[in-house]
Amino acid sequence: MSITQQTLNRAQASVMQNYGRAGVVMVRGQGCYLWDTDGKQYLDLFAGFGGSVLGHAHPALVEAVTRQAQDLWHVGNALWTLPQIEFAERLKAHAFDGRAFFCHSGLEANEAAVKLARLYGMRNGSNRWKTISFLKSFHGRSLAMIAATGNPAVKEGFGPPVPGFTNVDPLDWDSVLRSIDDQTCAIIMEPVQGEGGINLYPPGYLKKVRQLCDERDLVLIFDEVWTGCGRTGRWFAYQHEDVVPDIMTLGKAVGGGLPVGVMYARTDLAGLFTPGRHGCTLGGNPICMAVSRTIFDLIEKENLLEHASALGERAVARLRKASSITDKVQDVRGRGLFLGIELRAEPIDFINKSLAAGLITNLTSKKVIRLAPPINISESLWDEGIDRLIRLIESV
Ligand code: PLP
Repeated sequence: MSITQQTLNRAQASVMQNYGRAGVVMVRGQGCYLWDTDGKQYLDLFAGFGGSVLGHAHPALVEAVTRQAQDLWHVGNALWTLPQIEFAERLKAHAFDGRAFFCHSGLEANEAAVKLARLYGMRNGSNRWKTISFLKSFHGRSLAMIAATGNPAVKEGFGPPVPGFTNVDPLDWDSVLRSIDDQTCAIIMEPVQGEGGINLYPPGYLKKVRQLCDERDLVLIFDEVWTGCGRTGRWFAYQHEDVVPDIMTLGKAVGGGLPVGVMYARTDLAGLFTPGRHGCTLGGNPICMAVSRTIFDLIEKENLLEHASALGERAVARLRKASSITDKVQDVRGRGLFLGIELRAEPIDFINKSLAAGLITNLTSKKVIRLAPPINISESLWDEGIDRLIRLIESV
């Protein structure tokens, strides 16, 4: 029996099977490459759902972790630590004037955002506590976030949904308007829907939602868990449009693969989280914060936003022009290095074929191939990856 098979047998016997995992076990990563227990090399075009935004074992991140681990590992949030403050300053420099709350995951950041919006809606004796979210959205797996998520499959079997969330079709503007009542306090949306299939809104749509929130005094929450931290070629995806949210949530890339979530709120709103209102014991721990700070410094120093934009545009153009796959491909879309290739038909056994070809890719919504490589992937490796992907699509 191969080492891989032995390891998979151990996994079957000890780890929950709540993910549809592929039958490989990864043991090493370097840059944009991964290696499995059999020594097979893979080109990583998905970066662990975008988490490994600067690839694997980046020397500067390894150094940041190592140094911080030697200095200070954890003290808890009853005390201040420098890395947390320094990273919050980086966020402020690149986003809007606000304050950061740190946790471990995207869903926790969204929970914190909804709680803060409720505090806003309930202040001065008002009774506004409901949040509107959109169909095909994804906001996390907690009981409240499955209620926010606009996909019935994630709610199935978990009993009555947590009250206070209405999922509406974002493109049916009348139903968006109808869904708001005098108890509504917030709208939460992803600037580009990730799990739903890399869905971009029509130009001007974010601005329209911003205006609606202004008119109705609603808190606008942009869930940038997928799209934040350079993934789309800007620091945050809202910066592609002339809009600023009241709250932005981050996850995935913000920790470079370590568990970091951020709820970043406009300063006056942030003030509603007075001491004791919300918390997270390990949130913002020094090691994670040292990594997040270093990621932001590297994105800036190495001009990775421009790089991600340019590589993304180039790949979209190439994939759209590739005549050998026009019969297979319905649409190519995305922003920066957050790309979706929608196939005309559901491919059979796509992920195993991708792995056999030495490529890490992902499939969402049954027929949308998703790419989210490390944003520092070199031009030549990215071109090679797209060539190999085209050959893979030809074969499915
Ligand atoms: N929000 C969005 C847009 C996501 O894509 C995800 C995860 O895929 C989440 C929230 C939840 O993040 P986490 O899995 O870190 O809780």
